[in-house]
Amino acid sequence: MSVKQFRLARAANIRFPLIAFHRIFAPIQFFTQNGYMAQAKYKTHLGMNDILPGEVEKWQALEQLIRTEAKKFNLEEIRTPVMEQTELIVRGVGQLTDIVSKEIFSFSRGDDNYVLRPECTAPVARAFVEHHLEQRGGTQKLFYIGPMFRAERPQKGRLRQFHQFGVEIMGSDDPVADVECISFMMHVYNKLGITNTTLKINSIGDPESRDSYKKALVDYFKPNRDKLSELSRKRLEKNPLRILDSKEEEDQPFIEKAPLIDDYLNDASAEHFNRVKTYLDELKIHYEVDPHLVRGLDYYTRTAFELISPDLGSQDALAGGGRYDLLVEEVGGPQTPAIGFAAGMERLLIACDELGIELAGPKQVDVYIVTLGEAARTWALKTLPRLRTKNLSATMDYMGRSMKAQMKDANRENARFAIIVGDNELREGRFTFRDMEASEESALTLDEILERF
Ligand code: AMP
Repeated sequence: MSVKQFRLARAANIRFPLIAFHRIFAPIQFFTQNGYMAQAKYKTHLGMNDILPGEVEKWQALEQLIRTEAKKFNLEEIRTPVMEQTELIVRGVGQLTDIVSKEIFSFSRGDDNYVLRPECTAPVARAFVEHHLEQRGGTQKLFYIGPMFRAERPQKGRLRQFHQFGVEIMGSDDPVADVECISFMMHVYNKLGITNTTLKINSIGDPESRDSYKKALVDYFKPNRDKLSELSRKRLEKNPLRILDSKEEEDQPFIEKAPLIDDYLNDASAEHFNRVKTYLDELKIHYEVDPHLVRGLDYYTRTAFELISPDLGSQDALAGGGRYDLLVEEVGGPQTPAIGFAAGMERLLIACDELGIELAGPKQVDVYIVTLGEAARTWALKTLPRLRTKNLSATMDYMGRSMKAQMKDANRENARFAIIVGDNELREGRFTFRDMEASEESALTLDEILERF
């Protein structure tokens, strides 16, 4: 078939039959090309997902949005390795947390023990200390995006490899830092259109307030020690605050009536919390104070917050964060007040799906060059770079297929334009330039085609 005959056939509009043909016969083609659809021999680890083309565009759009918005908040990106020394994570996340006690992926190499990072605050604190980031002067306003690993029981919104974006603002104990941090978090969700959320906040005080609160909790829980869950009994000895985090049923009646931190905040902590609330009010960021919201580790201080979405089902936490004024010292650095949050990206994408928020449009290629004959293929190969220097996405057939099959492929690729070329076109220096959307064609020189863009 010559290009001319092909164009006539196109003009008679065999576009829709072609698509239908493709849909009907694609599975059969697959069957004949591959024999049968074999079960994959190798699979990803449970709860660790491949992000495939079609899905990955959403991730790219989300990452781009986070980076663009972070810039507006003067946040700088930091990237740390996925592997850290076990001791850093044990110190930084806490021996008694579920994460460290049950969910760590660990391995050793030589005499050293490593884990796949379950979160990024301790790694960022490590990087801050290791590279003396305080010497850059001022407050370090950092953000990160990346995979985290926890050996949890997978379910919707709970994975073993999941992704977080997060912020760590290091070197300021001013409530303005707390509020900028929360504000950035809210800004990202609002920008995406995820507005049906609840921001919960609390203050867990400074070490002095916490000491008196801990004492009050021990006095309160001790008489009922035997009725508490095993984990809570352990925590009663080591870190009674974390009993308030317990999900165990038998602990709930006791947790409900437990003393509240509010009554134990000293003046400095109460003043800090009031200023955080006042600034949030000024910014019209709506919040609920939740006195049971605690972060049980000793280096967590003052502000704690969590963002919840009713659109997520049982795994309803979108993001969580707080102050950790003592963590940098805990991992061997200078006294450095800091605040941060971490947000689950899979859960954010689930919320987008539930709300019908489209992060990325359908796949599209700007130009598909359809060729007939070897000379045309060579011309196409040489023309692709010229189109790409115009910032166009451009492609051609890699399989030596018929023109009909190439047109089908151009449709499948959602090509905006096709350039159709055979021996006659090469001789005349004019090519069929097809607007795939309008189904219009014209004969143009390559310069004329390039000028169109
Ligand atoms: P965390 O580091 O536990 O405070 O978690 C911060 C956020 O990360 C949560 O609010 C979730 O959105 C997300 N997240 C935590 N664990 C997982 C997980 N196993 N799978 C998916 N997302 C998670």
